[in-house]
Amino acid sequence: MDTKAFKRSLQHSENYNRKGFGHQAEVATQLQSEYQSSLIQQIRDRNYTWQRGDVTIRLAQAFGFCWGVERAVAMAYETRQHFPTERIWITNEIIHNPSVNQRMQEMEVQFVPVEANQKDFSVVDQGDVVILPAFGASVQEMQILHDKGCQIVDTTCPWVSKVWNTVEKHKKGEYTSIIHGKYKHEETVATSSFAGKYLIVLNLQEAEYVSKYILNGGNREEFLAKFAKACSAGFDPDKDLEKVGIANQTTMLKGDTEKIGKIFEKTMMQKYGPTELNQHFQNFNTICDATQERQDAMLELVEDHLDLMVVIGGFNSSNTTQLQQIAFDRSIPSYHIDCVERIKAGNTIEHRQLTGELVTTEHWLPEGKIAVGITSGASTPDKVVEDIIEKIFALKTTL
Ligand code: SF4
Repeated sequence: MDTKAFKRSLQHSENYNRKGFGHQAEVATQLQSEYQSSLIQQIRDRNYTWQRGDVTIRLAQAFGFCWGVERAVAMAYETRQHFPTERIWITNEIIHNPSVNQRMQEMEVQFVPVEANQKDFSVVDQGDVVILPAFGASVQEMQILHDKGCQIVDTTCPWVSKVWNTVEKHKKGEYTSIIHGKYKHEETVATSSFAGKYLIVLNLQEAEYVSKYILNGGNREEFLAKFAKACSAGFDPDKDLEKVGIANQTTMLKGDTEKIGKIFEKTMMQKYGPTELNQHFQNFNTICDATQERQDAMLELVEDHLDLMVVIGGFNSSNTTQLQQIAFDRSIPSYHIDCVERIKAGNTIEHRQLTGELVTTEHWLPEGKIAVGITSGASTPDKVVEDIIEKIFALKTTL
């Protein structure tokens, strides 16, 4: 499919909207009351530190809702207002946050059902309104919805669209897109749908493995088995790695994406020499500012003395997991939770480990004076952070 031409024709269609409906002022008040927090504002104003009783809270200097997420949520609220009686669907969670997604359901914005890992679009009819979430949707999904005659409200973050434009450029120049990301993540699924040839690498180890293959060749069967779910159809590692371009899932660790870019730059330089480098390697900066700011703030926060960290965000939120990884790498006891209900009575907490496992830890709040570092992923409203801080204060008075 000519994805660029399809995207262009979709954007000119009268059934497509990516700018909202002019109800910004009304929904701003609603969003403010549902998601903002006066306590968090006060902590921000007091240099991101707040002390009550034995607990000192240290907030990261950048955390929570990024502008791309705020924009997507506001557009979803506007959509409900603009289409008060139409059926409204969303192709996926608008963002990775349970409380926001719960609100969507209360507003009768329904998720397209998923059967055996496949979305069932048969429930969506002509004239229905369908919202595409902040991390986008695949070009195939857009086409299905467009063909059905749905009204499409596209809240895809412009940073994500920037990555799509990058893979389009790779495709035009016949470069294979090396995408730093998780092959199952919706954003990476969407990005790869716009790419020509692509290979998704999860981390530095996988990048090194591919680099060695480029330089020395290797076991082709092993390569294909390793990346079976993470490459374009018919991918041939012996032919399709002669020209590569770098792209990323916007929420991966910035430092890792940069290192992966460097690995491939060095590899191509070694193989083809500096004068031919540009014919074999392309790299554009597509790391989202918000992800970068939250990661930098976390790196600064963990330099302080902290007895523990609480990292708040959806369990399927990639950028939250990256923040948790930073605490883990510093050996700081760190608890990734998605809502206040994970903090149970009796000094017990239910939290997600980096492996994805949900575990329960008892006596997680130490006795005596403690410093608690707090951060939250780009999809987490301040209100959720406030509830968790208040719960920690309350719990600590009972210990
Ligand atoms: S984290 Fe970045 S790419 Fe993702 S929605 Fe926010 S601003 Fe956009």
